[in-house]
Amino acid sequence: MEEAPTSEFDLKGLAVAKGIAHGEAFVMLNLDLKIPVYEIKPADKAGERERLQNAIMKAREDILKVKEELSERVGEAEAAIFDAHLLALEDVAILKETFDMLERENFNVEYCYNCAIEKFIGAFEKIDDSFIRERISDLKDVSRRVIDNLLGRCSSLRIGALSDPLVLVSSDFSPSDFALVDKSKILAIITEKGSQTSHTAILSRSLGIPCIVGVENVADKISTGMFVLVDGYNGNIIVNPTENTMRHYTELESVHREAQKLFDSAIPLPSETLDGAKFDVSINISGAADMPSDMENYAGVGLFRTENFFLDFGSFPDEETQYKVYADVVRSAKGKPVVIRTLDLGGDKNLSLMKMVSKEENPFMGYRAIRFCLDHKETFKTQLRAILRASALGVVKILLPMICSIREVERARLIIEEAKEELSAEGAAFDRDVKIGSMIEVPSAAVTIDIIAKACDFISIGTNDLIQYMLAVDRVNDMVAHLYEPTHPAVIRILNHVVGAAREANIPVCVCGELAADPTFCSLLLGMGVTEFSMSATSVGEIKYLLRKITLQQAKKLRDEVLSLTRSRHVISRLRSFHYEIMQSQ
Ligand code: PEP
Ligand code: MG
Repeated sequence: MEEAPTSEFDLKGLAVAKGIAHGEAFVMLNLDLKIPVYEIKPADKAGERERLQNAIMKAREDILKVKEELSERVGEAEAAIFDAHLLALEDVAILKETFDMLERENFNVEYCYNCAIEKFIGAFEKIDDSFIRERISDLKDVSRRVIDNLLGRCSSLRIGALSDPLVLVSSDFSPSDFALVDKSKILAIITEKGSQTSHTAILSRSLGIPCIVGVENVADKISTGMFVLVDGYNGNIIVNPTENTMRHYTELESVHREAQKLFDSAIPLPSETLDGAKFDVSINISGAADMPSDMENYAGVGLFRTENFFLDFGSFPDEETQYKVYADVVRSAKGKPVVIRTLDLGGDKNLSLMKMVSKEENPFMGYRAIRFCLDHKETFKTQLRAILRASALGVVKILLPMICSIREVERARLIIEEAKEELSAEGAAFDRDVKIGSMIEVPSAAVTIDIIAKACDFISIGTNDLIQYMLAVDRVNDMVAHLYEPTHPAVIRILNHVVGAAREANIPVCVCGELAADPTFCSLLLGMGVTEFSMSATSVGEIKYLLRKITLQQAKKLRDEVLSLTRSRHVISRLRSFHYEIMQSQ
């Protein structure tokens, strides 16, 4: 990297979580960087050997630290996985292979080490044995740590150790990185990859951490220690801001704060349109920490993404641990319904937790959510038992993610019945009539909603995934982010179809994807017949404020107009003009 500039310059990205923050940048380097290969002089070989030994020593210290932290948090048995990592780290055969190559050829040590690791992994991959598969994933994990140390890269692991709050800069930042970091130390997040509906963006929004994604080569343009100002409303990043710039943004922040105050004033008011049509606004959560103290102002929890708590935990929690978390949330809901979604691991959510050996080419189309759960019946049943037990404490509903066909709902229902029978035999309390619903987020489920509805007590539309699968646009790939169009006529039609069919089947329908929290979209959803909206608590004020300012008649008219439009851009402009009219109305 060239000498860091000290004068003000700005960068542009896509704002995905509102807010303005400023502070020192901390650059987390791209973990997928290629391993450099270069020739060294024979006289440098001793130094190269020493570099590797130091990197291994450092990795050993890091692993021991994580092991200690985990055994305090989770228990010694879970932390024992790191013993296998320590063994892999000090594997004599790998070290011998590395040093032999270093002697034979004149290449840098990280290259020799990586070749040795790849050779061993290649040999292991030919053996179909679950123990060996575990060893491959251990090897991958520890070798990444060693190579990071050799290259001076920083892994998320070490962010937790920083003492001051910082602006995190990274080429990518996944939900599992989030799990390892102390959130109170993140002022803002800037990444090169990501999009509006990546789970990192969703988590940032719910935590109120400003986040900007899609900033080209950001890790080359900002270096650790630079002072940056992040405008999460407009996607502007100002590096080395002058006093004037700081003043301008302080004013901007106060304008937004005033608007937010106005929106938030709607939170305790009735959820009702001007012509008296009722609607519900619930919240999306990742755990008990997201539960607001004024729960009476919300309709309930519309989506509890349980996998985030698993990621934080670092492994699959046992029934008792899960029960405590669900019970905590149900108690905090104070009698309001809590929709608990069963595990939705996969996609951009930490495959290592699922002990996957090889990386999937298309994780969002792969081994995700209900597919994983139906294949791992015991893991699934443990979660269901914990959820069912928590249902004795309030109103709990079970939501199944990534449903593609009625067969999956039926298979899941059978496992739920088994869990119920076991609990009954044990004399445990639970709601025998617990409602079971499906996420509608895959086109096959949306198109056959009339069939799926027959096996469901309710449905919840996951627009984040539904849009990506409808339009074949990876929701976390910034290269195709411009093609991720919620206003595409195909999306509008499928939403209208699903809502209409669910109403015909007489089952409740909620929208819990990010579209529910989009101020330009919520009126259209209401017009289609959606009466339940679920979103992060930070968005509730604005959506409630807007829906309270329109009539159902206006919303229905808007739906008819929009359904007749043939271009995405025409839909956008109609929705924006409608939004503008509402904001201007008294
Ligand atoms: C969705 O897909 O819209 C949804 C709510 O689920 P997630 O974002 O967790 O995939
Ligand atoms: Mg989804």
